[in-house]
Amino acid sequence: MRIVISADKIHSDFVRQIEESSGQLLLACNQCGKCSAGCPVVAAMDLLPNQVIRLAQLGMEEVLESNTLWLCASCLTCVTRCPKGVDLPRLMEALRVIALRRGVTKLDLSALPPELLKALPQLAIVGGYRKYVK
Ligand code: SF4
Ligand code: SF4
Repeated sequence: MRIVISADKIHSDFVRQIEESSGQLLLACNQCGKCSAGCPVVAAMDLLPNQVIRLAQLGMEEVLESNTLWLCASCLTCVTRCPKGVDLPRLMEALRVIALRRGVTKLDLSALPPELLKALPQLAIVGGYRKYVK
């Protein structure tokens, strides 16, 4: 990924929107990496959780394309490990909401095989709708 850093991006509406929506200060994160070191889902993520924050700090909207936002299980492990008190799941949620508002929809029930739909627990479908559908 090509990274272009500019003051305009760092002070952009995108950064302000993430901070307002999550209630977190992006620059509180000092990139220590403790969140990523303890994340149980990291093997499947295309960006480490601390990399998601770094791109967000830099105002890089490419972060919205990362699968990490959708794989985060909101398990709070990173929250217990963060020395700066950053609530990373809230940041992930804010980024998901921004992505959803831009038209991204990650769950298409009609595309799921009927056998799978029958086997899925109701909770999974309700949870999926809450997390993946705008
Ligand atoms: S543990 Fe906290 S300070 Fe360290 S990289 Fe993760 S979010 Fe940033
Ligand atoms: S809340 Fe998300 S980013 Fe944090 S440890 Fe859990 S799965 Fe990883």
